[in-house]
Amino acid sequence: MAGATTRRVVMFPFPFPSHIAPMLQLAELLRARGLAVTVVHTSFNAPDSAGHPELTFVPMHERLPDAATDPGADLVGQMLALNAACEAPFREALRAEVRRGQAGRSGGEVACAVVDGQWYAAITAAAEVGVAALALRTDSAATLHCMLSYSRLCSAGYLPIKGKCRDEVLPPVEPLRGRDLIRVDGSDAERVREFIARVDNAMRAAAMGVVFNTFHAIEAPVLHKIRRQLLTRATFAIGPMHRLLGAPEEHGLHAPDRGCVAWLHAQAPRSVLYVSLGSVARIDREVFDEMAMGLAGSGVPFLWVIRPAFVTGTADGDAPPLPEPLAPVVADGKGKVVTWAPQRDVLAHPAIGGFWTHCGWNSTLESICEGVPMLVQPCFGDQTVNARYVTQQWGVGLELGEVFDRARVAEAVRKLMVGEEGAAVRERARDLKAKARQSVEDDGASAAAIDRLVRYMVSF
Ligand code: UDP
Repeated sequence: MAGATTRRVVMFPFPFPSHIAPMLQLAELLRARGLAVTVVHTSFNAPDSAGHPELTFVPMHERLPDAATDPGADLVGQMLALNAACEAPFREALRAEVRRGQAGRSGGEVACAVVDGQWYAAITAAAEVGVAALALRTDSAATLHCMLSYSRLCSAGYLPIKGKCRDEVLPPVEPLRGRDLIRVDGSDAERVREFIARVDNAMRAAAMGVVFNTFHAIEAPVLHKIRRQLLTRATFAIGPMHRLLGAPEEHGLHAPDRGCVAWLHAQAPRSVLYVSLGSVARIDREVFDEMAMGLAGSGVPFLWVIRPAFVTGTADGDAPPLPEPLAPVVADGKGKVVTWAPQRDVLAHPAIGGFWTHCGWNSTLESICEGVPMLVQPCFGDQTVNARYVTQQWGVGLELGEVFDRARVAEAVRKLMVGEEGAAVRERARDLKAKARQSVEDDGASAAAIDRLVRYMVSF
């Protein structure tokens, strides 16, 4: 129950599952430290409030154009359209929360707002209302550093990427190469740059601080660079938040198929490759077929998440048929296919020996926390950045390579699962797991950072 002196934080998640989950993790972490939390949210892709009885949820009833909601829409266009359409409704919702707090009607005056880092328009809107806005980055610090370096990359002539820059390390964003920079297939590079420029501008002009779901042992140098770029010390690396929170896995996008955990119980230790490209990525039929053939050819047992409509050209709700010769492998029980897995439980299972991942930031952190080595297949957005750090900087994953055929897939899978190189990567993954654990212990850096964050929040 909120007391008379309780301060309230207004949160505004970006309406996609892998953005909502970390925002609600932060909400629970703040609540456990005595702050009251109101989650203002879009009606589009509204968060599930069921597991959060002590948070207050306030829908905005925004009006969105098709460009903001169409699942087939260009992703960058969608993010620009969401920002444009939600700026005014968020400003009004925040004003209303401030008034309710001042009138003593909401169990705590508003101390500050925490908005997702992709809501550049909301960061500015909060500043206009006179509320300190902190940005929650649900991606890596390396991704934000890359975004804040775009204008420098442009003026140094590295952008647009051409020729040999693709394979060269670019000094302003080292260890990234040209091909690791943020890109969104199907979106015009100019629009990607426009989006990044808007985020950059809001961060520099209006954000009072930045919260990261990361930890010092993996990203201290890049966090240091960001502090210099933003001229602020108000950065808080409080990850991995799901570990700091210690809460069980939430439902997520779909109901998970728990039968796959029973199947894992019957597999040998570290023998199974878990394959999942997250909740959004879609692949072409040819790539899907090469993945399937390569898996079958590797002889390695696998657990593969194939979401409905994962393969382009298949209708929503339809699972693509498994190509020969993968179907008999599954029929024999040497491989398993599910539409959605309880991923954190899967990664924690002793039978898992590797994770073929798109390197979404949540998946990357979850893999690091369980000490599972990765095989990286980044698809778009920040995934290329994360993949480069996983393979090059932290050495806990192997590249699949850009040329993607069944023979190379089979070779890469074997290299990770049974090869010497894979063993070295596994060893480093084990070390990183221990560091992730240390960071959330009582005297760890992330635990200290969240205490500092709470003090900062109530100072406004
Ligand atoms: N996830 C899951 N089951 C699945 C596939 C994914 O629970 O079968 C979860 C995964 O644990 C992670 C999230 O979905 O927390 C995916 O987020 P990520 O940032 O990795 O990728 P995105 O979906 O944004 O591309």
